[in-house]
Amino acid sequence: MTPPFSLPSGGRYVLRQARVLGAMLPRPLPPLDFDGFAIVDILVDEGAIANIAPYGAVDFGDAPEAFMSGRIVLPLFVDVHTHLDKGHIWRRKRNRRGDFESALAATIEDRSANWTAADVAARMEFSLRSAYAHGATAIRTHIDSVGAQTRISWPVFAEARKRWRGRIDLQASPLFTIEFASDPSHMAEVEAMLDAHGTGILGAATRMAPNLSEGLNVLFTLAERKGWELDFHVDESSDPQARSLKVIADMAIERRFARPILVGHCCSLALQEEDERRKTIDAVARAGLNVVSLPMCNMFLQDREAGRTPRWRGVTALHELRAAGVKTMIASDNTRDPFYAYGDMDMMEVWREGVRILHLDYPFADWAPAVSALPGQAMGLDCGVLRPGARADMILTRARDFTELLARPQSDRIVVRGGEASSARPPDYAELDALEGLAP
Ligand SMILES: [Zn+2]
Repeated sequence: MTPPFSLPSGGRYVLRQARVLGAMLPRPLPPLDFDGFAIVDILVDEGAIANIAPYGAVDFGDAPEAFMSGRIVLPLFVDVHTHLDKGHIWRRKRNRRGDFESALAATIEDRSANWTAADVAARMEFSLRSAYAHGATAIRTHIDSVGAQTRISWPVFAEARKRWRGRIDLQASPLFTIEFASDPSHMAEVEAMLDAHGTGILGAATRMAPNLSEGLNVLFTLAERKGWELDFHVDESSDPQARSLKVIADMAIERRFARPILVGHCCSLALQEEDERRKTIDAVARAGLNVVSLPMCNMFLQDREAGRTPRWRGVTALHELRAAGVKTMIASDNTRDPFYAYGDMDMMEVWREGVRILHLDYPFADWAPAVSALPGQAMGLDCGVLRPGARADMILTRARDFTELLARPQSDRIVVRGGEASSARPPDYAELDALEGLAP
């Protein structure tokens, strides 16, 4: 498809009459339209954003122009909850029933049979190339950290992080069910791998296990000793009795935990009694937890029963959390593995689907930072704002308003990195055929 605009090659140029959300500018520039967009001129110079001014307000002299005609420019995306180590195993290990339990069982089988360092590295690289082509600037992944896998996967992650430095900022959190936290030899392994290859984030998947508090105590204590952050998979279940979110929030408050905590999923919160939910949300807000919803994966796994049409979209009470002042965001989660059959590490898809599943559209602008600025803050990064002085990283679209932006997958978007249109494209699935057990 021919783009409606082509970028002058390198040097100094102006993106004239671009449409940018006020929330994605350091300060909103008039005029803001109904959806909160400003019409601006963006001066790019030597790969950086040199100036952003209201359309027509500044004379940029003889700088070449790309005329945007009011088309939307976005900051790059941040994907704060992914599983780069699990991605793309579907073809050799599908989820037989499509629910959470069979996803877990299938993944454990594939992990023990196939996850060598080379296998994990190849699949991670495939996902990162996809994410890069779609316009990601930062990604946090969970790394399955159980048994022998811990020592296999963490060095692979560290290598990928080094290889992608300057292109995608990578962070990782270990993933194991909370029961493992009570096993000192397990925790010693995790600590050693995080010391050697980690990014200062500790985590686990929590559920109403008998040793939930004991396990959380171990994790909080270790994180406090090391100055690490925490990142949990929480209550990924339709059982209203799954209430580990409240236990985490209460513990963070009681211990005055000072570092950021991100909690993902929290599905059961949506199905609890009103009173119970309110108490939990209050505690989450007081504890300062950040919440990430994984709408595509939740809708796939939750409320699935053969022969019965789902009645629930699987997602947490994200609007209520936001109304209580909690930083709320959305992310990819799994990619073509037993937990989610689809996905392409594309935050434009997550945004598009998130708007549909979670009603993140009244108003649109309030939720737009949920795919860039807010997950960026949760990762301790300055992302999601087009800022003079910053590298000229952005996404150019043909869309002129939110429905044009979200009605189509934006496959013709132009990802600009350092002022230049990126030629990166998602890799061909056939490249995965060489992996063990993946016949063409
Ligand atoms: Zn996850």
